[in-house]
Amino acid sequence: MPNVFTAQNPTEAHFVMGLLQAEGLDAEVRKESLFTTVDGASALAGMLPEVWALNPDQVAQAQAIVDRYVSGKINASPAMSPWTCAQCGESHEPQFTSCWKCGAVKAD
Ligand SMILES: [Zn+2]
Repeated sequence: MPNVFTAQNPTEAHFVMGLLQAEGLDAEVRKESLFTTVDGASALAGMLPEVWALNPDQVAQAQAIVDRYVSGKINASPAMSPWTCAQCGESHEPQFTSCWKCGAVKAD
């Protein structure tokens, strides 16, 4: 099966397709139309958009790129983004866990 990746949404599918195409691989998103027909509903199993490698000779390479993408995603910490104090509205860099201004602890 040349399906190398199943995305959670069309945006992710197109992002991964772009990664493959940037490496010179032939790739396309499939099942996207099924996704859009369930507008407003949660995605059903088997109806998630898939990224396919169109050239059988490139499937292994495509899979390697997808693996890199998946591991990078797992390592990415959602906490590493700037945050705003809920109490006083001060902006903070991600490494701070409490507000330097009013002392409030960062909320998740
Ligand atoms: Zn504060």
